[in-house]
Amino acid sequence: MKISRREFLKGLGASAASLAAIGVSGTVFGAEEKGLPARYYRAAAKLQNSLAGEVPCSFCSVGCGLRVRVLENVPLFVEGATQHPINGTVSWSGGTPAYRSLCGKPFHIVEAMRLGKEGILRSAMVRKSGGVFEKSDIDSAIARAAALIRETHSAKFIKVDSEGRTVNRCEAIGFIGGSYSSNEECYAAQKLMRGLGLVYIDTVARSAIAPTVQGLLATFGRPGATNPIPDIANADAVLIVGADPATETPAIMRYVFDAVIRKEAKILCVDSRHSGTAARAHTHAAVRPGTELAFILGMINFVLQNGKYDEEYLRNNTDAQFFVAEEFRTIVDTDGVFSGYSEGEYDRSSWRYILGRDGRVARDDRMKHPRTLLQVMKKHFGRYNESAVCRVTGVSRQVFNSICEDFCTRTGKMGAAGVVLFGRGLTARATGTQAVRALAILQILLGSIGVSGGGLIPIVSEPNAQGAADFGLLFEFLPGYLPSPTKDLDSFDAYVRQHRKVSREPDAFNEWKNIDCYLASYLCDMYGATDIQTAYSYLPKRDPRKDYSVYGLLCAMERGEIEGLIVMGEDPAASLNSERWFAALSKLRWLVVFDWMVNDTAAFFEDKRFGSGGPEVVVIPSTVFVERQGSFTNITRWVQWQGAQILTFVKAERITGLSFLNSLYEKLSDGGTGFDEGLRALNWEKAAMVDASIVLTIINGLDFKSGNSVGTRTLLNSPLDLKADGSTQCANHFYCGCTAGKRKWQEGDNRLDDEGGLGLYRNWGWSWPSNVRVMYNRAGVRRDGTPFAKPLVRFSAAKWMNDMDTVDGAPNASPKEIAPFVATPEGVAKMFSSALPDGPLPAFYEEPDLPFVNQFSPAYRTNPVLIRREGDILMGDSSFKGTEKLAVCLRFSLGEHLGAGSYTRRLPLFAKFLSQFFVEVDSETARELGIRSGEKVRLRNLRMKDGIVLPALVTKRLSSFRVEKTSFGTVAVCTSCTPLGEIKGGVPVNALFPTAGDPSSKNASEIGLCVIEKA
Ligand code: SF4
Repeated sequence: MKISRREFLKGLGASAASLAAIGVSGTVFGAEEKGLPARYYRAAAKLQNSLAGEVPCSFCSVGCGLRVRVLENVPLFVEGATQHPINGTVSWSGGTPAYRSLCGKPFHIVEAMRLGKEGILRSAMVRKSGGVFEKSDIDSAIARAAALIRETHSAKFIKVDSEGRTVNRCEAIGFIGGSYSSNEECYAAQKLMRGLGLVYIDTVARSAIAPTVQGLLATFGRPGATNPIPDIANADAVLIVGADPATETPAIMRYVFDAVIRKEAKILCVDSRHSGTAARAHTHAAVRPGTELAFILGMINFVLQNGKYDEEYLRNNTDAQFFVAEEFRTIVDTDGVFSGYSEGEYDRSSWRYILGRDGRVARDDRMKHPRTLLQVMKKHFGRYNESAVCRVTGVSRQVFNSICEDFCTRTGKMGAAGVVLFGRGLTARATGTQAVRALAILQILLGSIGVSGGGLIPIVSEPNAQGAADFGLLFEFLPGYLPSPTKDLDSFDAYVRQHRKVSREPDAFNEWKNIDCYLASYLCDMYGATDIQTAYSYLPKRDPRKDYSVYGLLCAMERGEIEGLIVMGEDPAASLNSERWFAALSKLRWLVVFDWMVNDTAAFFEDKRFGSGGPEVVVIPSTVFVERQGSFTNITRWVQWQGAQILTFVKAERITGLSFLNSLYEKLSDGGTGFDEGLRALNWEKAAMVDASIVLTIINGLDFKSGNSVGTRTLLNSPLDLKADGSTQCANHFYCGCTAGKRKWQEGDNRLDDEGGLGLYRNWGWSWPSNVRVMYNRAGVRRDGTPFAKPLVRFSAAKWMNDMDTVDGAPNASPKEIAPFVATPEGVAKMFSSALPDGPLPAFYEEPDLPFVNQFSPAYRTNPVLIRREGDILMGDSSFKGTEKLAVCLRFSLGEHLGAGSYTRRLPLFAKFLSQFFVEVDSETARELGIRSGEKVRLRNLRMKDGIVLPALVTKRLSSFRVEKTSFGTVAVCTSCTPLGEIKGGVPVNALFPTAGDPSSKNASEIGLCVIEKA
């Protein structure tokens, strides 16, 4: 084959990265015209024969566009999509479709698919207890999985519990999945699993998403990020806390730089690590690990004490003017805890507003009365004054004040706004959810919610973590964040009474008042035409005192309470504590894994300590990312569709998640014996459930009475159409109406037009709820209809002008009729909330593993309602004294790895590049202990007495610090460092961390304390 160089470069548009991805090293761009080596022509021939298509990137939650080439049923290489609002064309830079950003992750994953040791699975695998994997056909493997589920279910299903309550649950089977699946797969998975009565339904992405969900729900009534990613470019200041977008998500960082260019925004970074983002920030506060929250609380105090808040915004939109109960006490009054504390838990009855005779919240709109929330907050946050915060965090006064001034003074005024980006360095803490609340409070005070250039955006590396949470793969929620039923709520009416938010505020839209409509529509989706009370009785009822999260599941597996586990597209053994997971997995009777590669969870028995006996393992091969169809929700609620153009590559050797679940359902329900009537009553239309586009229609919501099947029913237009009488079918009210508009985004009608020039791109994909791009956007308009701060919607001539965004809440209600925060019962953003178990306002506590005195509240070192789990010995409880050198241990992921790296770690090429794992050691500690890069060090603590040994990488990215007179080191280990895979030196590093943690999100703290020594 003869191809000219010009054809080679221009005709194919191949980049150097593309060539590298197909096995050609070096670059062609510097080559001489006179000729190219034969390998280039071979590469070009491969490219010419390959097929291309564009898909949303499903490797993290940013939602970039990928252009993918596929050859012989295997992805060949990826590039950034040029025509994409997140990583494609930059609208402010002239509109040329030439610029696209892409992080390295997709390249490595495609490499793993092409070249990994096992490559993509091409058949099912079955391993008998104590044996090795043997190939099987998919149908037989699913039949075997169904038989195993059936056996356990028959033996362990509980219809009525020991107290005589109907609970319809099976606690002996667990399900983990979600973040690597499409929304349609998540929807179908929760449906089948809840149909089976499972209550251990969770996602590993909990660690990334749950604090944000809980923190935002408590504050705004909705769990999603407020503003879309491209809107970052409209910010006057960007505060980045505990996240490193410059390294991990360049597609986000480009908008931060855009804000600097367009608005002269300041980049302000609060992070214990000297990260890539810190290096690019105007100011970096290198806080002591675990004190990021203290810094944010100090910023709130700065705003309150210096009057930097936007008074008009507070009066219009927040609870600052509300009276707080007389009996309420803050940590300042009660030596470190709020009122109601007793023996590890709170009675929350004093965490309330005072109601007037008319049932409305009593208020002082001057916000001067000492019982108004603004004054209570001044007292509470006064504890976090400049000198105390600087002492605890180790940050200089100059840096603290510089960040406060640059963020709060720039943005706390009319017409200006700042955005906050945050990550696991803030949220993976024992107070992680309260940290999200603290950021929300800061933004509320500054008037930066509901306006352009403002808001809160979490940075989450797990793909479709948002979709997994949206569709009920966090155990505590059904889809749409309806609380999952507990055994004490034994009827539909009891559930609604408990969870309906009642409001006496005449201008509160209070969308949760319709929870009866949402739940009835969910039940109709689950069980069809059955009456609502009967349908509700089928739903599994969990025990409200039990922890059904992935961490709780681990403990239950260790106790031998779980017989079988179904894992769909996730790898808990690699992501969490592999030492404990391997041991717990070996206690199962059976394990079913659905994935495109044999991951660490499926292959745990390759670790010889756990190889004998153990469960029967069934692995079902899943399609890879280019083969499937479906929608994915990015971290700012954008729902993007992956179309069918690349689906032609699906072969019988792999199946989609929907096919797997459908086949499993068929085999489980075949004959129907041995199953509770709940599973038999499940509304599962087989023909519809294998097609993602039809499943999306079901998700959209249907008028149930208008036809006999999905295809004949009428689409609903919005959540306002949902009814409580069983006449509407909708699994998730937030997605109701998603496909009902004129623009068929799921059929490829996506446009890059940006009407307002603000980067909202509301004709690209769809955004929940109701295609609103900036939530609570009524907040930019005064109650009389005049704009007051960066408005996104206008009210003119008695109607809303949706020229930039869709107005949030009832579309026909004027600003006077409806207050901006449409999801809270009071119609305002709630800085004071009783929704979380550890306080109505955020407070700082030390991490559970750190033995330091909490200098703000010495009587309470760590979170007083910390969630503690069996087998967890905390270093913070001990007096680890003596001559040993102690170091705080942090976790990080390598950008090249997908998640915990269970796929990428098995790639020989990548293993050559990163030949062995390592531990980063701060340079001062290394000097003190005489450790040089490459030399072995041991890390050990009470949970790992023998410790782990890894080569050191001495770095300035971490710093040691002093607490009182003692110096502590800082080390960091790679989450992906498990014993399985191609890379040498893998050890179960996650065992160094506790599983104790945040009582709101049920997450474990990701800060451990260990002894460091030369090995
Ligand atoms: S930033 Fe995330 S979505 Fe974008 S290319 Fe990288 S992995 Fe994919």
